[in-house]
Amino acid sequence: MATKIIPAKTETTCDACGVACHNGSGKGGRRNNGRLTVRRDALDAAGCPVANANCDFDFCDECLCAVTDAVNRTVEAIRKKCLTPPRWGQGGTK
Ligand SMILES: [Zn+2]
Repeated sequence: MATKIIPAKTETTCDACGVACHNGSGKGGRRNNGRLTVRRDALDAAGCPVANANCDFDFCDECLCAVTDAVNRTVEAIRKKCLTPPRWGQGGTK
């Protein structure tokens, strides 16, 4: 009897486009090892943290660029909205 050891293979699927990733370039390429981790606490009714509510997203390079661009644009829009003082006579809250 012979024993043959077959190493495990790790396969990552992009959480956005669903493609099985590979280490090359092109569709499904994942040379940047892209991952978005959202860290947050789950809160109870009184607002106290009661559990871990983190979530992770793995992305291929193409989707990582799209997600990074979307996050940057959203943060920029929020920042612009929050830092722009309301104009006199227009009655806006911000
Ligand atoms: Zn993708």
